[in-house]
Amino acid sequence: MQNYSFPDERGFFGEHGGAYVSETLIPALQELAQAYREAKNDPAFWAAFRHDLKHYVGRPSPVYHAARLSEQLGGAQIWLKREDLNHTGAHKVNNTIGQALLAKRMGKKRVIAETGAGQHGVASATVAARFGMECHVYMGADDIQRQAPNVFRMKLLGANVVGVDSGSRTLKDAMNEAMREWVARVDDTFYIIGTAAGPAPYPEMVRDFQCVIGNEAKEQMLEAIGRQPDVAVACVGGGSNAIGLFFPYIDEKNVRLVGVEAGGKGVETDEHAAPISSNAPIGVLHGFRSYLMQDEHGQVVGTHSVSAGLDYPGIGPEHSHLADLGRVEYQAANDDAALEAFDLLCRYEGIIPALESSHALAWAVAEAPKMGKDQVILVNLSGRGDKDINTVAKLKGIEL
Ligand SMILES: *Cc1c(COP(=O)(O)O)cnc(C)c1O
Repeated sequence: MQNYSFPDERGFFGEHGGAYVSETLIPALQELAQAYREAKNDPAFWAAFRHDLKHYVGRPSPVYHAARLSEQLGGAQIWLKREDLNHTGAHKVNNTIGQALLAKRMGKKRVIAETGAGQHGVASATVAARFGMECHVYMGADDIQRQAPNVFRMKLLGANVVGVDSGSRTLKDAMNEAMREWVARVDDTFYIIGTAAGPAPYPEMVRDFQCVIGNEAKEQMLEAIGRQPDVAVACVGGGSNAIGLFFPYIDEKNVRLVGVEAGGKGVETDEHAAPISSNAPIGVLHGFRSYLMQDEHGQVVGTHSVSAGLDYPGIGPEHSHLADLGRVEYQAANDDAALEAFDLLCRYEGIIPALESSHALAWAVAEAPKMGKDQVILVNLSGRGDKDINTVAKLKGIEL
């Protein structure tokens, strides 16, 4: 593959992506695309972005050789890109800083966001406080019940959490509601989408902000081991941490790229969130075309994953295209494998990983023993697991 360069001018990655929105949103997306094009070519914009990544987020995040875990597995050397060490505990803040800076540049004083488990809501509320903007976070009513600590965090940070009572009362419905609100108040409102999905230009924009992960990793691995890893692996919900790691590696053909979807109770069951691994057809949801879990009537189906951040029926359009090209392999890790990897990282490295990131780790745990001791797997540790301890305790039958 030569000179990978996507999306095209219409926001397509091959046959995926685009902007499938109501007419009322088209001017807003055009304004955003224009503003982003200008910002992308403005060195001052990136200087401000890098400044906040360094002084507010605490970047660069290190790469770390998980030597004890590697030794225990008896094969390839596992390295971790430590996004868990960022301010707010995950990679999501890289993107919310970028979009907040763009909102500021566009003169918008009010930001809105959707959230499922609350991680993107917290990252959005954080940057809204940092930049002095009003913030409203749309969240499914069921998720509000399930994720009380994150709801309280957002409130502490000054955000207004808006409960969404429609549909399944979860992330999918929160995103629909946020888009409706954006249409109604597009003059003063900026919509911060939390993953590399949504209508163009969001997938490209979110990717560009998250690319700091892969760009840093390339430099750091070269310095640490004098070469690039044999495999780079990341979990995939909507796909922002994965595309951030993968994109700078796309033209490095010696680096195998693996995206790990949420296999839930198994991709052969109907309780998973793995559109590509389960051969889902193409569909349109939340303004973009991509592989999408749906029934024979094209209705989006319910999903399941032990990790809330991966519990989404779609996948960002660039991943669908990279799957079509065969450049990135997509595989699934089941709930059980993720929980086992979670335990291993706690015990052998003293790091409590997010359940999302544990899916990428699970791939490494399964594959490292089949590889040579001189081979290297770089795992994107997208976030820390403090937020997940209640879930894990419950699964283990422990009362906190
Ligand atoms: C939200 C989240 C994810 C999933 O989102 P992507 O856009 O696929 O990266 C993964 N890991 C963590 C820690 C998250 O909070």
